Formats: sequence, C-alpha cells, structure tokens
Amino acid sequence: MTEHMHPGSSRKRRVSHDPSVDPITGAIAAPAANREPRFVLPARDEFARSKLEGFVARAGRRPNVLVILMDDVGWGDFGCYGGGVALGAPTPNVDRLAREGLLLTSCYSEPSCTPTRASIMTGRLPMRHGLLVPPMYGMPGGLQGEVTLPQLLSDAGYVTQAVGKWHLGENRESQPQHVGFDDFYGFLSVSDMYTEWRDPYFFPEVVYSDARTDWVKNIPFNKCFVHAARDRDLEEVEEVTIPVLSLLDDKWCSYSEDFIERMADSERPWFLYHCTRGAHFDNYPHPDFLGRSPAKHPYKDALVELDEICGRLVEALERTGQLDSTMVVISSDNGPEMETWPDSAFTPFRCAKGSTWEGGVRVPAIVSWPGMIDPGRATDGIVHLLDLFATCATLAGAADRLPADRYLDAVDQTSFFLAPADDGEVVSNRKFQHYWLTANYSALRVGEYKYMLTSITDDDTDVLNPGGFTGSVQHYAYGRLYNLYLDPKESRSYMIRKLVYIDAILAEMARHRRTFRDWPNKPTLHAQ
Ligand code: CA
Repeated sequence: MTEHMHPGSSRKRRVSHDPSVDPITGAIAAPAANREPRFVLPARDEFARSKLEGFVARAGRRPNVLVILMDDVGWGDFGCYGGGVALGAPTPNVDRLAREGLLLTSCYSEPSCTPTRASIMTGRLPMRHGLLVPPMYGMPGGLQGEVTLPQLLSDAGYVTQAVGKWHLGENRESQPQHVGFDDFYGFLSVSDMYTEWRDPYFFPEVVYSDARTDWVKNIPFNKCFVHAARDRDLEEVEEVTIPVLSLLDDKWCSYSEDFIERMADSERPWFLYHCTRGAHFDNYPHPDFLGRSPAKHPYKDALVELDEICGRLVEALERTGQLDSTMVVISSDNGPEMETWPDSAFTPFRCAKGSTWEGGVRVPAIVSWPGMIDPGRATDGIVHLLDLFATCATLAGAADRLPADRYLDAVDQTSFFLAPADDGEVVSNRKFQHYWLTANYSALRVGEYKYMLTSITDDDTDVLNPGGFTGSVQHYAYGRLYNLYLDPKESRSYMIRKLVYIDAILAEMARHRRTFRDWPNKPTLHAQ
C-alpha cells in the first residue's frame, strides 16, 4: 500500500460540513420503514461514499473487518480511557491503536454478554431477537430465524471466521457454523462455566464431593472447546480444565494469526470475529503473564495479555500487508463485572454489568483503519455495538441486502467512522440510545440527556455488591432525567428544571414502542 492509499490525511479531500447539527434538535430520517432513524448529514455521507469507492477502486475489493470483542472489560480499563498504568495494567497496544484511529466515548452494549453478542449478529435489540439473558449450562440460544451478519457478509463474498467465545447457545441451530461462519474455533459458552465447579476456592462443596462433581459432569453442557467447519458437526478439541483455560487466549490468538496469514493472498475479503476468553471471571493467567502486571492481580494480568493479543493481531495484519485494507474494532461486550471484586474492572460511571446505568452498558470502543479513518479522533457521538451490522453491510457493498421483513435497530455508522478528524460534527449518525433491562424498557438517551423510567437498584440497602445483577427492578413515578455530562454517576435527577425536553423524549419512546407493534418479534427466551 502506498501513500495514495491515504485520502483521509489529505486536506484537499476535505469537504465542507455543516457543524451546526445539534444532538437534540438535529433532523432525522429513516432509510426505510423498518430501519432506525438517523441524522440527516448528506455532506458527510457523500464524503464517505466517495472515500469508500476510492478504496474499492484502488484495492480491487471490499475491505476486511476484524472485530476483537473482549469479555467484561471495563470502559476505563485501557490507558487511553484513563486506566492502563494508572490502574496497574498497562495497555500500550490498545492505546496506540486509539491514537492512530477513532476512540468512542459513548459506545453502548447491552447489559450482559449474550444480548450484546446476539445484537451484533442481528443488528437488532434483544427484545427483537429474543436473547435477553445469557444461556448457561447447556441452555439453548436463539439465533434461528435471524439474518446474521456473517451470513450477510458471506453472501457478499466474504470469508467468515469466528474465534473464541461464542455464548449464543449450544443448540445446533445457534452454533456459529450454522449461522454464517465458514469456520469456528473456540468455546460455546462463557469462561466461568468451565471452571467454577473445578476450583476448590470457589466451589469446595462440589470439588470435595464426588456426588456433586458427578452431578455437574452429567449436566448436558459441552465441557470442551471445539472446532467446526460450515454446516458440519462440532469436533471437540480439548476439555477445558483450569490449566487448559489459562492457555486459551494464546491458542485462539494463534488461530486468528494463522487465519490472517492465510488470507494475505485471498482474492476475497474477510470478516474475523475474534472474541477473547478474558477478562471474564475467573481469570487464571497464562504462565507467561502470571504476575506480569504491576498490580499482580489475575484480572490485571489477563488485561495485559489481552493488550498483547491486540498487538499480535495488528502485527499479523501489518506483516501480511493487510493493515490498510482492514477495519479493526476493539470493544467489550458489556460494562465491568463488579460482583466478583477484586477480580473486576473499572468504569467511571454508575453501577456495572447487568444494569442499564451507564456503568452497565458504556463500553470502550476503538476503530482503526489506516488511511481511511483519520488518526487521533475522540468523539462522544452515540454508537451501539449493533450498529456494526449495518456498517459492515455498507463496507461490504451489501447495504441493499439488509432484511426488509423485520425491524433493524442498527444505524449505518460508516460515514461517521470515515469522517475527517476535523469534521466538526458533535454527533454520530445515531440520535437515540434505547436502554432495555431484560424485558423492561428502561431509558432513552438523546444528546447529553438520559431519561430513565426503570432501573435496577444498586444501593447498599438492597444489594451486597455494587453490581448490576443483584438489585431489584424499580420504576419511577415520573421518570428521572440525568445530564450525563454534568452527572456521569446519574445521581441527581434534573427533570424538574428541564421539562422542555420531555415531550420530545416521550415522542421518541412512543415511536420506539410502535416499532414492536408494527414489526412483531420472536418470543423472548429466558426472560427473568
Ligand atoms: Ca461479558
């Protein structure tokens, strides 16, 4: 790749933008009846369309996409978000990617693993795809009947590879090789399910009881990590004991490095969905990383390893000449887990994983694509991870293949990602963030305001830990309005002085509810 691959760095390519779009009053339109409305920004869209067409013309093919999705890593854990060395776990590789790319401060997930992952796969909120909570110990998932991102990309000519944690159900029809991936190498569930009953510190009553150990072993869930090729049955690779688990992130990274190497000469673009084991509890660091972090704590050692894995995957792209043709996204699937302290992560926001407070759903997100995404840009524009569905479709030239028979919550963020660093807009392409707490509609964010109707309690009188899973659901009589810029801890309702916003907020909530009437969904699974 040569210097002409870097149109974004050329001032001459800049187009004039209207920096007057306001996050509250800016006009929106829906691309289709079944699509989420988005800001109307024609100059930004035209700039990105031309930039992407230029890339395709030069490269002779569509771009690759590498998504590195970490587990339970907190918004603030990386150095570029204020953590890193300050919290005893340096993250130089992630920090470098942030400097060289786009750092998002208002990227949203769902409150826990599976709902987020299923939303990325479908471009739809959990209340539409039905996966409201994580399936555990062999419970089925629910991707059947959905149009998935890997299938969409596969139909557009992409090679599709999933590596690492899946956690969308162990049932055959929810397995990755049956929902559009050409190949899968990883485990079907979540880290703790493989280890908690094997660890005498956490589960002495199982480990020291033959009866209970046998009972767990007979629960029908897969205790191995697996390999699967498209449309084929799973092959078990190895049982995930604790020593095996400590090596998984390294093994999975090697598998992805091999994939990237193999793709160097491919005429087809590719999609690599690399989901790490870490840093979900409980962390048993790889021997090479034991005590590597200044904190010397297993969670922090795992974080240092995850940072190195990001470095290895990017290095593989560089080595094989694919860095300039690959959009890299690094994120986490939910806010930090705070109920396993001190094996826990960092957020400056209220509460944690499991909740719809900002701490539960605000995740780190870095998007990097040298030459196409300008370096050094940090933005508070609202993005939901499920926007990757529509964004990747545009990158793949498959925007016209998005399903029309169901509601899509995904907003195409391509033109936001590709916008020049001095774009001047304070908004992404998404205007609204809708929060759902399992089957309860919880809140709406627009601009810096968040209007909350329902939340989970996180005060000491109701929960033992400051986490998001152990509170009770509370409904507010009048709703609460938080200014997230003045009050990131969501502790002071501002509503009584800001009533001017309420009608607009309620109108959008009503529109959102109507989409469920107009576009019926599958039954929800595992609702609590
Ligand atoms: Ca998670």
